[in-house]
Amino acid sequence: MLRIGPYELHAIVTGRLRLDGGAMFGVVPKVLWGTRAPPDDRNRIQLAMRTLLAIDQSAGRVILIDTGAGDKWDADEIDRFAFEIEGDLLGAGLASFGLGNDDVTDVIVTHLHFDHNGGLTVREPGEPKRCRPRFRKACHWVHQRQLDHAHSPAPKDRASFLERDFTPVQEAGLFETVEGDASASPLPNVSWFVADGHTPGQLLPRFHDDEVRLHYMGDLIPTAAHLPVPWIMAYDNEPLRTAGEKQRVLQECGEQGLILFFEHDPNVAAARIDVSRTRPEVKEAIDV
Ligand SMILES: [Zn+2]
Repeated sequence: MLRIGPYELHAIVTGRLRLDGGAMFGVVPKVLWGTRAPPDDRNRIQLAMRTLLAIDQSAGRVILIDTGAGDKWDADEIDRFAFEIEGDLLGAGLASFGLGNDDVTDVIVTHLHFDHNGGLTVREPGEPKRCRPRFRKACHWVHQRQLDHAHSPAPKDRASFLERDFTPVQEAGLFETVEGDASASPLPNVSWFVADGHTPGQLLPRFHDDEVRLHYMGDLIPTAAHLPVPWIMAYDNEPLRTAGEKQRVLQECGEQGLILFFEHDPNVAAARIDVSRTRPEVKEAIDV
């Protein structure tokens, strides 16, 4: 557990999946990435889906950042992505703090790719073709550019958006959109970092107080292996833009000791980063 400002922060691994190692590392050759992220016999590497839970007891605020892939998957998809999503790990994580779905006051939606926010909706009991929002009392923060893009995606990331994950949330009026690129957020001790290289309007929150700053990385730096600037996913719509965004983050790691929270790293939830050498590396893993 980490405390920042009024929040207790807890990492919850909601499941695991496997994606193609080549797609995950873009132009980096397999002889380099293969030792950092060993592939299976179908060239896939293992990734976590890690939600950050922030609890402000005094204000009664319960924030989730991303919600994992959810459970609306058929057998073929489970095989293709090697989903490990048995049991409701997000629900179990909330329950371990005495919380249920209706206690969640805010969901920060970094972006709407299925492996980040398939967990926003669940199937309607008795009507398997219909989905409904899972967190019915929560304000769902999403960037307007991302919501627009999700409805008319680029050919590169079309397959990552599933209407069933976000249209029910929108129809229920639960989205609160963020516009522009300003860092100010209405949530106390939280600021926004808006990144556009991976997908337009990726909303990456930072939690901060006078001593500690933690930045949720989403798909900007999905794992610790992606710390070097050129190690950029082939999935990204604008890789050179991603490079500039990573440079900004790494500079702040050096100047301000920023803690990075890795949504997809199979082992490391959060870390301080050593940027003093050519290749940025994890300096100190942080317990979250
Ligand atoms: Zn993504």
